[in-house]
Amino acid sequence: MDKLAITGGKPVRKKLLKYGGQWIEKDDIRAVMNILKSDFLTTGPSVAEFEQMLAEYVGAPYAVAFSSGTAALHAACCMAGIGPGDEVITTSLTFAASANCILYCGASPVFADIDENTYNIDPASIESKITNKTKAILPVHFAGQPVDLSAIMDIAARHGLIVIEDAAHALGAEYGSQKIGSGGNMACFSFHPVKHITTGEGGAVTTHDAALYEKLVQFRSHGIIRDPGSLTLQSGAWYHEMQFLGYNYRLTDFQAALGISQFRKVDRFLGLRREYAALYTEAFKDMRELSLPSQSPASLSSWHLYTIRLNTRCLNADRREIYDALWKENIGVNVHYLPVYLHPYYKQLGYETGLCPKAEQLYEELLTLPLFPRMSRKDVNDVITALKKVLHYYSKL
Ligand SMILES: *Cc1c(COP(=O)(O)O)cnc(C)c1O
Repeated sequence: MDKLAITGGKPVRKKLLKYGGQWIEKDDIRAVMNILKSDFLTTGPSVAEFEQMLAEYVGAPYAVAFSSGTAALHAACCMAGIGPGDEVITTSLTFAASANCILYCGASPVFADIDENTYNIDPASIESKITNKTKAILPVHFAGQPVDLSAIMDIAARHGLIVIEDAAHALGAEYGSQKIGSGGNMACFSFHPVKHITTGEGGAVTTHDAALYEKLVQFRSHGIIRDPGSLTLQSGAWYHEMQFLGYNYRLTDFQAALGISQFRKVDRFLGLRREYAALYTEAFKDMRELSLPSQSPASLSSWHLYTIRLNTRCLNADRREIYDALWKENIGVNVHYLPVYLHPYYKQLGYETGLCPKAEQLYEELLTLPLFPRMSRKDVNDVITALKKVLHYYSKL
């Protein structure tokens, strides 16, 4: 067996392979340059065109672009009427932004535990956390695999709750035969460079509700409105009024131009993610040292992340040692996620270890493998070689 790089052997590859990243090509650069030379730098025709593309792609009547996925989540929570005294149930295994947006509104995040097979929020745990203060459910389509939406919609209907989907991992993912974002709920997307397509920073909300759409647009720009039909006072043509407290969460036009250019490639990017994910699954499916995330037959993942779960009973090393050994092989694995409530800020708010035992256990064993469209098949094979090399070395079998 080859000596591990961490014990002085030769690494599987010379150059570090990161776990994710954007793919910017010449046409993307040209698209941005054209807008830089135009009359619009901030919100202009490209933003509207980008919103139209997203709405059509997911199959929703409306999309509103924001300066980030986090801003989109904040807007969706605020415009859903979430405020002080309310509780919103979200998953524990997610990026902090999924819960921070609840705090921004003055409401309290309530963390549900996960389903051990899919790593998504467990509907039974949601049900057990409902109180008379619960206002909304904020599920996250972890790694791009859709949550059990019909179970969640059923809980929401029975308890009169709003559903806001954190779809930051799920552009192009399908539930039933529908794309995520096409449902009756607000769904929030992110266009951060590690996501499916990028605008640098950026996000969006899709919705079916015309009134919500208008409010989201207003929230994005200070709560200010200019449409003469919606003004409470009338004055000169210069007149606009601020009707509620909004923010400056606008996306720039050159970012939207990048988004439009990237959108033309979304199916190619998704196809590569799915192809590489299938290569990993084929390579690892019989390895007892790890388990793969099970895929629900009712849905199609957009494979934002490829996560493996280490079977520590079969290994002479913990996740940290495996992680360090893989980095020495120049494979930039990552970990998604520390349960949100274990961050020091949340602990100081009073959340305690033990709240969601399944998420806490899973966190100890998870590892995210590199997966992004710009990687080559050679890169995929390097990951497979390195993971097998490291796990065989530490295997108890
Ligand atoms: C990326 C991400 C966000 C936030 O997106 P930004 O665009 O970085 O603000 C929110 N939720 C999840 C689960 C994410 O992965």
